[in-house]
Amino acid sequence: MRRREDAICLRTTDYSETSQVAHFLTPGSGQVRVIAKGVKRKKSSAGGALDLFSEGELVFVPGSPGKLGTLVEFSETVSHSPLRKEASRLNAALYMLELARELIAESDPHPAVFELLHNGLVRLGQADAPIPAVLAYYQWRLLRHVGLMGEMTDCVPCGRAVAGVAGQGGREIFFSSTLGGLLCDTCEGGEVEKRRISGEALAGLRVLAEARPGRKAALPDSQALEVNRLLAYHISRQIGKSLRMAPHAIGPK
Ligand SMILES: [Zn+2]
Repeated sequence: MRRREDAICLRTTDYSETSQVAHFLTPGSGQVRVIAKGVKRKKSSAGGALDLFSEGELVFVPGSPGKLGTLVEFSETVSHSPLRKEASRLNAALYMLELARELIAESDPHPAVFELLHNGLVRLGQADAPIPAVLAYYQWRLLRHVGLMGEMTDCVPCGRAVAGVAGQGGREIFFSSTLGGLLCDTCEGGEVEKRRISGEALAGLRVLAEARPGRKAALPDSQALEVNRLLAYHISRQIGKSLRMAPHAIGPK
């Protein structure tokens, strides 16, 4: 049975001389993987080969679980072409696509994540976009939506409030991806997997948690960078592999 969805193209791979396999993010069907037969012919229903970031209306026949579906038609309605004008924007945008691909499963609808990706790509395409801050907001919201990020105010094992004390009186606060939250200086000794988190990064996370639509969280670049590194570490631990675009989008760990 045919399904119609708004969709953003997350990945394309050549399948044959004329066909592609494409991954799309959709609001109602999660990630969708389809074979686009004959799509690379100019006169195909999609008007030529599918491109990353292409956003529009996708008509497809879903595959059985774990199998490729079939693309019937795709028409681009939103062009994210400004992203291709500058390497830093392009890398940040490719990183956004990679995270959506890794964290959103097939048949696992997250309409809010679709909107988040759409808004993120639009923002990155604007000339005045603070790229590290846009990425920090995207990573944070994505982790919240898929349930991988807690409140980040209290120590997970003992419940003591730790936000705001990092760095004060030489106190160190840690983040554990396994626990999905913070560790105080008393509890950190017992946890093997952890990473020190600076007071600045913790404050940045707080700003993100308090951000509301229409009131942009404008983290300074250096603070956004620390937040980005921490969240990339968390995601990479959660999916059990390194993120290919992370070094290009946010720099070394
Ligand atoms: Zn504790």
